Amino acid sequence: MDTTSLLNHLLDQGKIALEPASFLYQVPSPLPEDWDFGRVEGMLLGLAIGDALGNTTESLLPAYRKHTYGEIRDYLPNRYANGRPVGLPSDDSQMAFWTLEQLLEDNRLVPDHLARKFSQQQIFGIGNTVRAFLRSYKDQGLPWEQSGQPTAGNGALMRIAPVLIPHLRRPSPALWADAALAGMITHNDRASNACCVAYIHLLWECLRLKQAPEPSWWVDTFVTTARELEGNTSYTSRNPALSYEGPLWQFVDQEVRLAIKQNWSTLEACERWYSGAYLLETMPCVLYILVRHGDNPEEAIARAVNDTKDNDTIAAIVGAAVGALHGRAGLPARWVSNLLGRTTADDDWHIFELIESAKQTFWQADPPLTSD
Ligand SMILES: [Mg+2]
Repeated sequence: MDTTSLLNHLLDQGKIALEPASFLYQVPSPLPEDWDFGRVEGMLLGLAIGDALGNTTESLLPAYRKHTYGEIRDYLPNRYANGRPVGLPSDDSQMAFWTLEQLLEDNRLVPDHLARKFSQQQIFGIGNTVRAFLRSYKDQGLPWEQSGQPTAGNGALMRIAPVLIPHLRRPSPALWADAALAGMITHNDRASNACCVAYIHLLWECLRLKQAPEPSWWVDTFVTTARELEGNTSYTSRNPALSYEGPLWQFVDQEVRLAIKQNWSTLEACERWYSGAYLLETMPCVLYILVRHGDNPEEAIARAVNDTKDNDTIAAIVGAAVGALHGRAGLPARWVSNLLGRTTADDDWHIFELIESAKQTFWQADPPLTSD
């Protein structure tokens, strides 16, 4: 079954936490004629760079991190690479590049194959939700569509970017289906599924843009899509001072616009929302960093790394967007050249090989005929 029919089936049966919104049937706008694959290289490398710059100080409070390390703008010495200051992966880039591996193996998204791939190798810095997914899928043997957890963590959003790659040549609504299905494998939650589809839409538009957009574009683009897809939900902020209860899209809409109006620094805004792995924290932080620094990839990634708590994941998500917008050439060369390119403990250079294969398979080669 193709992924569009599969999504419809799951929506009909109420097995995916997502509103059956008309957006899911819209055809994505085509890429411009002079479009260059360097944008996708930038998206994937930006994700890996953000993860690698952040994962050595993950979960520290920004003030403590700053006190201990100063402003981080390069890879820290890494004990998994004999103390060399090089970029290594954690769960964010591991799972993103394993997704790309699955797409290359099957020429398209096959959710069960992706679920299997997630359960085959050691995941560094694994989150609670992915651990619970593995218990269901691997230990209890439940099918992939029953193994996603109903939690609003950022662990699906962090790895979603590669699903757009098979769609570059002939964009269709299957792009949104792939985002929803790939996301729900681990996190089957309305906020997470809506964020995955809305962010894939945002990344797709970043690939198409000729120049950095107006600051408000980031919020507008995310919110118009997410509000349709999320439906009626009730999430609360963990900051008692905010006492918010309602859908994620509305929190983002109110709060990021308020931050723009008040001209808060990214640190001030992220401290207000908190900046952990909860999507009600991650999502406004990501968007506000893009609002303030979307025109400057180095500064955007540096703010995510330094000003947030779940910094590797937030920097990976921000990195994918600024990479898609500015392309590989727009990323600082030292961050690219000092990235080891691993997805496991010792597969140096693997992500660069995957990126090259993706270019040949999904962009340079004639598009394969669909069989379904
Ligand atoms: Mg991580």
